[in-house]
Amino acid sequence: MLPVLGTDVRVPVAAGGERAYAALDQAASAPALVRVWEDVAAYAPYYGSVHRGAGHLSRLSTELFEQSRATVADFLGIDSADPDRQVVFTRSTTDSLNLLAHALPAGTRVFVFETEHHASLLPWRDHHTVVLDAPDSPAHAVALLDRALAKAPAEGPRLLCVTGASNVTGELWPVAELTEVAHRHGARVVLDAAQLVPHHRVDVGRLGVDWVAFSGHKLYAPFGAGVLAGRADWLRAAEPYLAGGGASRRVERRPDGGLDVRWQESAARHEAGSPNVIGAYALASACRALADVGFDRIAARERTLLARLRRGLADLPGVRVLSLFGPDAERVGVVSFVVDGWSSARLAEALSAEWAIGVRAGLFCAHPLLRVLLGAAPGGTGECGGGELDAVRVSFGVGTPDEHVDR
Ligand code: PLP
Repeated sequence: MLPVLGTDVRVPVAAGGERAYAALDQAASAPALVRVWEDVAAYAPYYGSVHRGAGHLSRLSTELFEQSRATVADFLGIDSADPDRQVVFTRSTTDSLNLLAHALPAGTRVFVFETEHHASLLPWRDHHTVVLDAPDSPAHAVALLDRALAKAPAEGPRLLCVTGASNVTGELWPVAELTEVAHRHGARVVLDAAQLVPHHRVDVGRLGVDWVAFSGHKLYAPFGAGVLAGRADWLRAAEPYLAGGGASRRVERRPDGGLDVRWQESAARHEAGSPNVIGAYALASACRALADVGFDRIAARERTLLARLRRGLADLPGVRVLSLFGPDAERVGVVSFVVDGWSSARLAEALSAEWAIGVRAGLFCAHPLLRVLLGAAPGGTGECGGGELDAVRVSFGVGTPDEHVDR
């Protein structure tokens, strides 16, 4: 549908000879779009410092960096001229959520389901965190949140952190409904869109969420750039995430030897140091490319591939597809499964060695969720790569041909 890099990679297989590599671990990192690569290549010879230089190339880079910010805002349905909204460039989803955790007002109570990726689960551990049970349906998730918020002490700010699409089951979470409930109880919402944004339109206005976090490397751009976008107030009130050049407006030595610092009020407050201009530019290029194709077409294509994969897995003996919400749940192109009598790690190795298929085996940085899905008792080693709790995950994207799924 959209050409990606790496489609000509051939790898040796155990039977002898080579096969075209089938990249089916795109939930971890998706291959970059050819268009993104071309955009970056066209710009790369000309880059200069951002927000720091008077020269032509510095001005060009600053302009492209700020245009990239506006492109991302547009992609998310955020008005980039709205002073109450900010788009902060970070390194990744993990970085974005840690930045928000850093910016939470004192006393914030954070609500999070145990089913989250560790990036959404762990940054809040220094705050008062309420960990909610795994729901067995989207409606159950909404009911659990409603009950927990009603029961919690009323004072102080509240935040719900929730994923849009699971990195393990691929299942879509009822983000708009959860947000409606959260807001009714005075809680704000940050959406972990790492797995949602490559597959569906994420319109911050329509979903109603207060912030959204995602990563460029899952959105067909290279590594190293992510986004935290949404309300400006808590971000503006917080100490900078990183202290340094660019985050400060004025620095002065006091007569007593200390330092007086006035920090930026814009997104630059949390972007100290020389920014990753190529990363931001590539991420914005991916946003433009996906928006040009349209998420209706992307979702329709992925539904076809998903149906093909599910049919194929159903025909194989001993395969159990992992799901919280049941077989009819809406999903993105991410499916995890276990096979009776097979170690998942061994299976993933065999898929690679014999079929040139790249998948992932493990706990997918979602250990509590894997325990729920596999019915494991608490305790045990349950560590990544321990072999005790693993599953195999297949995930695809806009560049995946039918043949990879069929294989
Ligand atoms: N959230 C979800 C749902 C993810 O799947 C991932 C990565 O797999 C992350 C957050 C973290 O993303 P990153 O590693 O780019 O920070």
